[in-house]
Amino acid sequence: MSNTYDFIVVGAGSAGCVLANRLSENGRYSILLLEAGPKDNYPWIHIPIGYGRTMFHKVYNWGFYTEPEPGMHNRKMYWPRGRCLGGSSSINGLIYVRGQAEDYDHWAALGNKGWAWKDVLPYFIKSEHNSRGTSAYHGGDGPLWCSDIEERHELMDAIIRAGEELGVPRTDDFNGARQDGVGYYQLFTRRGWRCSTAVGYLRPAQKRPNLRIETDAQATGLIFEGTRATGVKYEQNGTLHNSHAAREVILATGALQSPQLLQLSGIGRASFLQSMGIPVVKDLPGVGENLQDHLQLRVMYKVRKPITTNDELRSLWGQMQMGLKYVFQRRGPLAIGINQGGLFTRALPESKTPDIQFHFASLSAEMAGAKPHPWSGCTFSVCQLRPESRGTVMIQSRDPKRAPAMQANYLSTEVDRRCAVAGIKFARRLAATSALQPYIAEEYRPGAAASTDEELLEFAREYGATIFHPSGTCKMGSDPMAVVDARLRVHGVRGLRVVDCSVMPTLVSGNTNSPVVMMAEKASHMILADVRRPLSTWEPQNNFFSEAAPSAGVSAH
Ligand SMILES: Cc1cc2nc3c(=O)[nH]c(=O)nc-3n(C[C@H](O)[C@H](O)[C@H](O)COP(=O)(O)OP(=O)(O)OC[C@H]3O[C@@H](n4cnc5c(N)ncnc54)[C@H](O)[C@@H]3O)c2cc1C
Repeated sequence: MSNTYDFIVVGAGSAGCVLANRLSENGRYSILLLEAGPKDNYPWIHIPIGYGRTMFHKVYNWGFYTEPEPGMHNRKMYWPRGRCLGGSSSINGLIYVRGQAEDYDHWAALGNKGWAWKDVLPYFIKSEHNSRGTSAYHGGDGPLWCSDIEERHELMDAIIRAGEELGVPRTDDFNGARQDGVGYYQLFTRRGWRCSTAVGYLRPAQKRPNLRIETDAQATGLIFEGTRATGVKYEQNGTLHNSHAAREVILATGALQSPQLLQLSGIGRASFLQSMGIPVVKDLPGVGENLQDHLQLRVMYKVRKPITTNDELRSLWGQMQMGLKYVFQRRGPLAIGINQGGLFTRALPESKTPDIQFHFASLSAEMAGAKPHPWSGCTFSVCQLRPESRGTVMIQSRDPKRAPAMQANYLSTEVDRRCAVAGIKFARRLAATSALQPYIAEEYRPGAAASTDEELLEFAREYGATIFHPSGTCKMGSDPMAVVDARLRVHGVRGLRVVDCSVMPTLVSGNTNSPVVMMAEKASHMILADVRRPLSTWEPQNNFFSEAAPSAGVSAH
């Protein structure tokens, strides 16, 4: 292959692996996929409980920290991000939730044509290989595997009954007709192993002669001719390279690093870029703005019975039993990861759809991924689904190796503070049900001493943590703060798209991996539709039907 490709995809994470597969699928286009991290060879990536091992890993995790968060006692908060093939899908908690139909209808109502629920559902279905098979809401033969947790846990069963006592319906599918409910999650696993996008999408494509994958290759900037992106500069093993894109450069470096690369390359608020000494290619003030994240509040309990994962992990014998169960049956805690089940409901009276999500773990620790407590414990982690707080991601220097400054401004609005308090109160109501009372010994955190709203808010500020969904920093739209249009093309320049978590105009009401995969499936379809005409006449256009169209029902609008 020469050093010119039809497409250069930067970042082999949740979105990048999907793009690399779909754009190389028909064999017509050459693709270069650049990933800053290494291959995903570390065994703990692939064993679901390995989540704890990658959480602070120096190689496979970028291990970012926010700026001091004013609403969180000025704590610098830990923000893990995947750094290897598969990106964050190689280190995430494996939980499969798409969000609410209303999230996507809202995107469309903001002016993003083609992103309503009816438009995106076919792409969710196309991506999905659900162990339950095909149905109106699910796909049975896509690349992204998701499976049921095969074993029931006594404590999770009690939590489900507790939810029912409070009027939350039992559900076995958070991605079906309605999200409200309490039940077990489905996980991104295939026969007990993690199904990252590197496993599901990249492995089947990696031997294609038209796809070149470069790992340990960190993009340092984009190359422009005027306002057309024509290539990418990257560093690999200490050597600088320039590669050229005949058709498009597609940024898929995630919500923290896509705005960073744009700013480093002269796309961002002009006055800010000038202050950093960066020549302006396009004045786009929205780059790095609109940062949104889910804040998790981990309400923890000491449990009366020694049935929690803390108990299994405490003894060597327990660990051996877990290991053997996994080796011979692909079952047990090693096959599950951390969280077993969830609950979606309304905490605030004005909310029309669920506004909080719980992640339930039969495990407790001081922070996600840390060593479990030396007693029987469980965690009811609650997060507000549609936070109003907005933050920023801004470069701090022209050095591409220096992390950008990131700040979520958690709990900076009254609604977010009210929802945090209401979520903690809901956790307490659950724990007080007759279904859970036989199990709950005492509330470890916030603890009985915290009772007023002010005290519960204080707990949120002191102990709140990310649930790892930063998004929205290159938002899709047509207002002056939008960065990409509804076809994910960067406004005001040519040959450049952003396809990752950063383009969400508003954060979805759930977990973010499958929405990103859906967006990358849809983007691939749009890109192939846009380039169908000969290169000499090529200019992206709307509503151009592609012969690379996927299965029935999917439209490239
Ligand atoms: C610890 C954790 C737990 C999570 N749990 C869940 C969960 O249970 N369920 C769920 O649905 N979601 C979960 N998420 C969120 C979800 O995984 C992410 O939202 C999603 O993976 C983001 O996809 P992305 O493509 O935007 O970015 P990423 O998947 O992060 O991909 C970005 C890629 O770009 C690479 N990159 C960055 N900069 C450069 C550069 N300059 N040059 C080259 N490459 C670069 C990165 O190394 C990375 O591989 C979790 C995330 C984390 C971190």
